Amino acid sequence: MTVYDEAFEWYASHWDPTMAVGDWWAEIAESGWGYPFWPVGRFGRGLSHAQALEADRARDDVAAFGPPSGIGVTLVAPTLFEHGPDQLLDRYLDKIVSGEELWCQLFSEPGAGSDLAGLRTAAVSDGDEWIVNGQKVWTTGAHAAHRAVLMARTNPEVPKHRGISFFCMDLDQEGVEVRPLRDMTGDCEFNEVFLDDARVAADDAIGGLHNGWRPAMTMLAVERDLDAVGHDGGGDVVNAVDLTTPVGQVQAEQQRGADISGFSYTTGSVKDQVVADLLAAVDRSDPVLRQAMAAARIEREVLDWNGARQVNPSLGKLANSALCRSLRDLGFRGRQMEAQLGRADAPDGGRFLKTALFTQGMSIAGGTDEIQRNLLGERQLGLPKEPDPTKGTAFKDLPT
Ligand SMILES: Cc1cc2nc3c(=O)[nH]c(=O)nc-3n(C[C@H](O)[C@H](O)[C@H](O)COP(=O)(O)OP(=O)(O)OC[C@H]3O[C@@H](n4cnc5c(N)ncnc54)[C@H](O)[C@@H]3O)c2cc1C
Repeated sequence: MTVYDEAFEWYASHWDPTMAVGDWWAEIAESGWGYPFWPVGRFGRGLSHAQALEADRARDDVAAFGPPSGIGVTLVAPTLFEHGPDQLLDRYLDKIVSGEELWCQLFSEPGAGSDLAGLRTAAVSDGDEWIVNGQKVWTTGAHAAHRAVLMARTNPEVPKHRGISFFCMDLDQEGVEVRPLRDMTGDCEFNEVFLDDARVAADDAIGGLHNGWRPAMTMLAVERDLDAVGHDGGGDVVNAVDLTTPVGQVQAEQQRGADISGFSYTTGSVKDQVVADLLAAVDRSDPVLRQAMAAARIEREVLDWNGARQVNPSLGKLANSALCRSLRDLGFRGRQMEAQLGRADAPDGGRFLKTALFTQGMSIAGGTDEIQRNLLGERQLGLPKEPDPTKGTAFKDLPT
């Protein structure tokens, strides 16, 4: 039996739209079909990414709702699998897969984006805990998240990449203040986060204390791959879902775009479908438009090829940004005035305009296009690295 057949059979015999969404998510997690490339015994089936895409295709064909698609599932879990320790998987994985706890990513700061290793949020040891002070920015989903992964400097005496720890942090505590930021789509999906004597446990450090750079880079690589594959999970990537609602109702509301806040963060075939819907009524005898549609289709194939074979995360990230731009331009060219209607009473509920306005963000989030090209040049093509006159200098001695 192929992976597709096996997954199809499971979904066809278990999918029940009247179940509460929380119960459905618990059931697909237990089956291993929600996250088929995760390890066996940890809600997965140990399949390859290509096989997992087959299982996702089977789920789509049954029209069953997907597993939670937030940062906990897509980024935190794979990083924990690679760097552990196991006690953190035991502590956090159950509530991640059941959709009970949403996570966010406290990486970027006002002075540290591309130069992430220059981050200044500092943690100071206090018994079994660390006390954290600093400011993070552009934190997607912090307004709804229960927990975060936090990059903080725990040793300023060593060069900047070496003195960083990567903690799991409880956001529901005094000392954490989340302030929403409105982006150009009109939504407030990312935030500023102020940490004022906030606390993290010493044994909540992923990959061990002062060793945070490696797991953080793993997480960024996964994020870039994720952009490459396109993740069509269920639920909202950045907002909480009421787990007691019937899953069929949540699915129907998402499909008709009843609430399109958070829609900008959809990826993969959902995004393609937005443009396909918009273009369905377009006159296809226009050769320029046809050419642009073919080009976007090819970009999607290249992206999927890269994603399924895990060729290179930076290549996937660049290809995804390029595809998003092509789809945006295609939509505007194909439907012109109609594509510019952004409110809920627009023919497509405003979903196209939202994804179109979010396109530029895809070239920035998870590392800019320029940074991806630097990585490809230096790590794949072996070009000389950018000169760094401060290399080897202790963080505390770096000029500011
Ligand atoms: C939609 C969205 C969601 C995001 N979500 C999160 C999140 O959840 N958590 C989080 O921590 N962050 C998040 N970010 C922040 C994102 O990671 C940063 O914006 C990104 O890494 C760029 O950093 P910066 O904004 O400080 O720009 P800068 O680093 O200041 O870069 C400015 C410009 O200079 C260029 N540049 C910088 N250095 C180089 C170089 N060495 N070579 C060539 N060009 C260079 C950049 O490409 C860019 O064009 C999000 C951003 C967006 C847009």
